[in-house]
Amino acid sequence: MHQMTLAEIARGLADKKFSSEELTKVLLARITQLDPQLNSFISLTEDLAIEQAKAADARRANGESGALLGAPIAHKDLFCTQGIRTSCGSKMLDNFKAPYDATVVAKLAAAGAVTLGKTNMDEFAMGSANESSWYGAVKNPWNLEHVPGGSSGGSAAAVAARLLPAATATDTGGSIRQPAAFTNLTGLKPTYGRVSRWGMIAYASSLDQGGPLARTAEDCAILLQGMAGFDPNDSTSIDEPVPDYSASLGESLQGLRIGVPKEYFSAGLDPRIAELIQNSIQQLQKLGAVIKEISLPNMQHAIPAYYVIAPAEASSNLSRFDGVRFGHRCENPENLIDLYKRSRGEGFGAEVQRRIMVGAYALSAGYYDAYYLKAQKIRRLVKNDFMAAFNEVDIILGPTTPNPAWKLGAKNSDPVAAYLEDVYTITANLAGLPGLSMPAGFVDGLPVGVQLLAPYFQEGRLLNVAHQYQLNTDWHTRTPTGF
Ligand code: GLN
Repeated sequence: MHQMTLAEIARGLADKKFSSEELTKVLLARITQLDPQLNSFISLTEDLAIEQAKAADARRANGESGALLGAPIAHKDLFCTQGIRTSCGSKMLDNFKAPYDATVVAKLAAAGAVTLGKTNMDEFAMGSANESSWYGAVKNPWNLEHVPGGSSGGSAAAVAARLLPAATATDTGGSIRQPAAFTNLTGLKPTYGRVSRWGMIAYASSLDQGGPLARTAEDCAILLQGMAGFDPNDSTSIDEPVPDYSASLGESLQGLRIGVPKEYFSAGLDPRIAELIQNSIQQLQKLGAVIKEISLPNMQHAIPAYYVIAPAEASSNLSRFDGVRFGHRCENPENLIDLYKRSRGEGFGAEVQRRIMVGAYALSAGYYDAYYLKAQKIRRLVKNDFMAAFNEVDIILGPTTPNPAWKLGAKNSDPVAAYLEDVYTITANLAGLPGLSMPAGFVDGLPVGVQLLAPYFQEGRLLNVAHQYQLNTDWHTRTPTGF
């Protein structure tokens, strides 16, 4: 039962092969049995899950249908869930029970999805390895000595290990696509503004975007359908109609123009990954796509720009955690300054503190022009490169990451080494573009992802290309041994 995709579950529920309650119980038992090896959950919501599953079964018995009605999922632990701990992977919010549901959570619940729990993540979504979580590192089910990627490492490890078919995640600089690549999943970061950020604890507000992590493009289409849409509570949400993503999955790739940026294949890319990317290009050519070399000349500036902009926004967003209104509060503060200092010093981990310091520095008087303003100018250049490229091609293809998943602890002493691994993903966030990562093969038994980028609001195009590829390849069906 645990091998089923969301699409298969929807068919099985519609055909009354099993009930949502039965499936939910099987998966909860599987999580209890196997998750101690992975640490992919921060909280399990068993009672809520059974209650939601029963309600979904009752709705189906009353004649309702829908791809998500009775489908078990989990939420990354930065989506607020009413009455349930929403920790953001931080000691700061270990005691925080959200007083309301995030829009994404409410929409999925209304569609009938069943919440099994809240998944582990890098603290405040800062990281690429899920090692900065206060709840401990998450292990990669493909090799328990390796990281699952981050920051949505819990969602990724759980779905890859078949603990559940799909989960929500967020992507500020790659946190959906990179863990998807590291664990052999399909993950989609939508266009900025496509999915509401209301109730999603902010890291860098101009970059953050929620999206689906699943095993197939077909399942990402189903989950995205339940997440996307205009939300008056989010001032950056865009009032555009949401297309039927599953209906966009049947299109031929004949004549599809795929741009491959020459900058993607320079030094730093593992040659074994380069070879797998070439294989995926050939596969898409067989399906009728036309390949064109393109250039994204400002790509080399993206990492420094991102690692100014994201910490700058984080330093501002995280100022609300001051020990006064919610979250961790130190014992016996001597005065207000002592309360701030000790609450924040005790509540935030090392990586979060580093980013707050970098961000506050970059925004401070005298340095603003040199760092923040400069980074924003680079951001515009990165966007312009994409706009020029999309005049010539329909999608852009390349590796999701320069290397496969590294060993736990390998980059802990050198944060910049981890930042450099984000080179292929962060440009889409700087430009606000949608991006998808899908399985493309293995290196030393570890999964490799290929990334597709498309113009604004072309999520359907990305999902269709990935779906056509998955109809003709079987990488995405491989299961990690032991799970
Ligand atoms: N690795 C990047 C960072 O640490 C991206 C994280 C994310 O997308 N949330 O900022």
